[in-house]
Amino acid sequence: MEKLIFATSNAKKIQEVRGILGSSYEVLSLADINFEGEIPEPFDTIRENSIHKANFFFEKTNLPCIAEDSGLEVDALDGRPSAYSARYAGEERNDITNYKKVLSELGESENRKARFISIITYKNKEREDVFEGNMEGCIAMNPRGENGFGYDPIFIPDGYTKTNAELSPEEKNAISHRRKALDELVRYLRR
Ligand code: IMP
Repeated sequence: MEKLIFATSNAKKIQEVRGILGSSYEVLSLADINFEGEIPEPFDTIRENSIHKANFFFEKTNLPCIAEDSGLEVDALDGRPSAYSARYAGEERNDITNYKKVLSELGESENRKARFISIITYKNKEREDVFEGNMEGCIAMNPRGENGFGYDPIFIPDGYTKTNAELSPEEKNAISHRRKALDELVRYLRR
């Protein structure tokens, strides 16, 4: 079976990708290739970081690589936190202080429109291709729910009244930005 590296240390993301690609590819995590360093994310945009990560691990391993980078864009905050989503309130990367910072910056603002973005880069010897998925929604007034991670407790997807963290993992995964970008990747890999 063809090996494919998924450049993430996020166990939930690996699980999701293995569930989708596992019958066609042997999906290797960074732990499987014994990578223990810091994953490089030096750019200000999600897209540049995704492309950079895929190239970084392709050069290291010479195996086909996919990298996923994602983040939240809030319209009333001029698109922040975007590429800084994971470390918005500081390098300790704390989900709760991150979403509290977004809530406090938004205050009572009526414009609460926001979206999650996922950008997946596929890199092998011949090519580099980029796939994008979005989930549109709005920021709740207060956090609700226990599921998911990151900004899920404050994000209400369009067409729903629950936050992502109140949806079951299956419900969220069916409509998520990551799922949409992965679907694009799968269509491409099967072509
Ligand atoms: P990275 O792509 O692993 O660098 O992380 C991006 C950050 O964006 C995460 O740490 C979360 O804060 C946020 N994020 C990305 N996808 C989601 C999601 O599905 N739910 C909640 N937060 C997310």
